[in-house]
Amino acid sequence: MLKISRRSIIASGLGATLAGCANAPIIGGRTIGSTKAYGFGALKPLDLSIENLSTITVCTRPFRAAGPRLEAATVNGKTIVHNYGHGGSGWSLAWGYAGNARDLVAAGRPKSVAVLGAGAIGLTTAIAIAETGAKVTIFARELPMESRSARATGVWSPSSRIGLGAAVNADFPARWEALARRSYARHLSYVGRAGDPVEFTPRFYVRSQTREPPLIDPPAEGDDFLHLGRRLRGMEPPWSERNGSPFRSDAGVRGGLVMTFNIAEYARQMTDDFLAVGGRIERADIASMADLARLPGDVVVNCAGYDARTLAGDTSLVPVRGQIAWMPPQTDRLYGVFYRNVMALSRRDGLLIQETGGNDYYGFGDGDETPDKDEFLAALAKIAPIFNWG
Ligand SMILES: Cc1cc2nc3c(=O)[nH]c(=O)nc-3n(C[C@H](O)[C@H](O)[C@H](O)COP(=O)(O)OP(=O)(O)OC[C@H]3O[C@@H](n4cnc5c(N)ncnc54)[C@H](O)[C@@H]3O)c2cc1C
Repeated sequence: MLKISRRSIIASGLGATLAGCANAPIIGGRTIGSTKAYGFGALKPLDLSIENLSTITVCTRPFRAAGPRLEAATVNGKTIVHNYGHGGSGWSLAWGYAGNARDLVAAGRPKSVAVLGAGAIGLTTAIAIAETGAKVTIFARELPMESRSARATGVWSPSSRIGLGAAVNADFPARWEALARRSYARHLSYVGRAGDPVEFTPRFYVRSQTREPPLIDPPAEGDDFLHLGRRLRGMEPPWSERNGSPFRSDAGVRGGLVMTFNIAEYARQMTDDFLAVGGRIERADIASMADLARLPGDVVVNCAGYDARTLAGDTSLVPVRGQIAWMPPQTDRLYGVFYRNVMALSRRDGLLIQETGGNDYYGFGDGDETPDKDEFLAALAKIAPIFNWG
């Protein structure tokens, strides 16, 4: 019935699964065998008391079967470069696509550029173009921390819902790999900065002897989502079996380090970086492609995310719903755990609880951004018991 959930979670170790995106990147299979590397002895249990719930957010992944749209078009004589549709991988791949969008824009040698959108894609694209010396203005209805990007899990998950195998071009995997590697390198340049916008924190995949059924079945013909993480093998710290774990489970635990985006701080530093290279940000609500083409700038870049479906009439964009319940940060215990298809991730800017549903079809085609408290309660009931120690 289900071709992916178990296999891809275990094989990949859960970078993307913890991202709330059921297919994960990479994860080498090398066994270290040390329990000290992740300091189980010092590990404090996450406090998932229900009273800690501060809010529930819902976000829509902008999925395109053919992969993200990155191309130049002409509208009313103006060059529009489209850069949207990054599914569950927008944060991860942002810098890679930003570089390619910059190259498309630079072909016209513009002096001024308008970027629509201040999410992960708009911000990175605007910075990359501004670094070439062009005068760049971001126009956006929602500023960075108001955008859907602010409601993401915040982990390195470059092949999460990035396309369907049958719909992408034959050269997509190779192009994707180059983009992912370039993006990863730029994320790395934020590691160690004050405020820790990007950092590596431990993840644990806690197994159970009872197979957790997925909340939704994939189509009868099977799962066709691209899972390209293995192409990046060797880039990330390896995962291994972890003995002596305190997690209350009847099976083993695998652990590793995963690149984590503390989105509040990352978005702030990106905004500062953009302003520092002379960028400007203006609030604007663009109603049509004709209005988009009228934005001041020799070239306009469309980074509208899922909203490109309405703005650009791109009906190939499919919404993929994802919900996160937030608790206040617990910064003395920064790690993530995946158990029974639920992820609990303690980030510097919040503790997240997320039901991943067990496969990539969870939330597929669902554009409803209304919070569902019952989903959170069910997820909490599944994962909270493993922290009963200490
Ligand atoms: C639950 C969940 C968890 C996720 N976790 C991860 C993760 O851990 N790692 C990862 O890599 N990816 C993750 N993703 C995917 C990632 O969040 C998206 O791919 C990414 O946010 C898309 O960014 P964007 O900039 O294209 O779109 P958005 O963040 O939606 O930004 C769009 C911008 O365009 C503006 N805009 C749109 N239309 C108009 C208009 N007409 N006029 C004016 N402004 C307009 C908006 O106001 C906004 O500023 C997750 C997604 C979900 C749903």
